[in-house]
Amino acid sequence: MIIARKVDRKYGTNYYDRVMKYYEYVVKNDLAIAVAQTDVKGNRAKRPHEQEDKDMYLRVVEVRDDGIVVNGAKIHTTQGPVANEIIVLPYRAMVEGDRDYAVAFAVPANAKGLKFIVRPVLEYDGNPNAVNSASRFEVESLTIFDHVFVPWDRVFLFREWDLAGQLAWTFATYHRFTAISYRAATANLYLGAALYAARANGIENAPHVRDWLVQMIMYKEIMRMGAMAAALEPWIDEGIAIPNPVYTNVSKLYANAHFIDVVHGS
Ligand SMILES: Cc1cc2nc3c(=O)[nH]c(=O)nc-3n(C[C@H](O)[C@H](O)[C@H](O)COP(=O)(O)OP(=O)(O)OC[C@H]3O[C@@H](n4cnc5c(N)ncnc54)[C@H](O)[C@@H]3O)c2cc1C
Repeated sequence: MIIARKVDRKYGTNYYDRVMKYYEYVVKNDLAIAVAQTDVKGNRAKRPHEQEDKDMYLRVVEVRDDGIVVNGAKIHTTQGPVANEIIVLPYRAMVEGDRDYAVAFAVPANAKGLKFIVRPVLEYDGNPNAVNSASRFEVESLTIFDHVFVPWDRVFLFREWDLAGQLAWTFATYHRFTAISYRAATANLYLGAALYAARANGIENAPHVRDWLVQMIMYKEIMRMGAMAAALEPWIDEGIAIPNPVYTNVSKLYANAHFIDVVHGS
C-alpha cells in the first residue's frame, strides 16, 4: 500500500487500487500467503541484468495485453507449498538496466508453471530432537517460475525500477519485526524445555544451570522489548505505520547473534 501510493503519484499508475482489491480478496477468503522475495541471485557481485544466466533474478519475459509472463526462481520460501497465494517482491535496489527485474505481483500457489521443490521435513516424519511439535512446523521451498502468467490486476510493480529497493526494504522491515516478535515466543519454548530437563536431572538450582536459564530469559525479554519499542515508536509513511526500523534492525541483529546461546542453554 505504501509503495503503490508512491509509484502511482510518480507514474500515474493505478497500483493502489489493485493492491486494495487484492487485499480485500485475501481478507474475504481468509487466504494464507507466502512471500517469495529472495532470488537465487547467482554471482552476488553482479546486478540482476549483469548475470550470465538471465534467470538468476525473477524477471518479466513477455508482456501481453492481458498481463505479463515471468521466469526465475526464489529460494527459502517459508510455507510456500502450503499457502493459497504467493506474493512476489523484488529482492534489492535496482538500476535502469534492471527494469525487467523490477516486478511485484501475486499468483495462486497452483498457478500454471509454478513449481515448489521442498526440503525434507524432519518434524513431519517425527524428529525426536525437535522442540516444536510435529503439528507445528514450517516447510520451505525453492520456488520456480517457469513462464508463469500474471494478469494485470495482480501486478503491483512493473518496471518502475527506482522504487524496487524501497519496496524490498519496506517489506523486510515488517518481516524483521515479525521475526523479533516470534523469537521471544520461540525462546520461551526453549526455556521451558531447558527448565524441565534441568528439573528431571535435579540440577535446576546448580549455579551454572541457573546462569544459562537467566541468559535465556534475557534473550526472550530483550526480543519482547525490541518488538514493543518498534511498535510503540513507528515511522509513519503514506499514513501507514512502519515498525521503527532502528529498533527492529538492532533487535534482529541481536536475535541472530545470540540465538545460538539460547539453543546452547537449552
Ligand atoms: C529460516 C529462513 C526463512 C526464510 N524465509 C524466507 C521467505 O519466506 N521468503 C523469502 O523470500 N526469503 C526467505 N528467507 C531468505 C532470506 O531472506 C535469505 O536467506 C537472506 O536474504 C540471505 O540470502 P542468501 O541465503 O542467498 O545468502 P547470500 O546473499 O548469498 O549471503 C551469503 C553470504 O554472502 C554475503 N554476500 C552476499 N552478497 C554479497 C555482496 N554483494 N558483497 C559481499 N558479500 C555478500 C552475505 O553477507 C553472506 O555472508 C529465509 C531464510 C531463512 C534462513
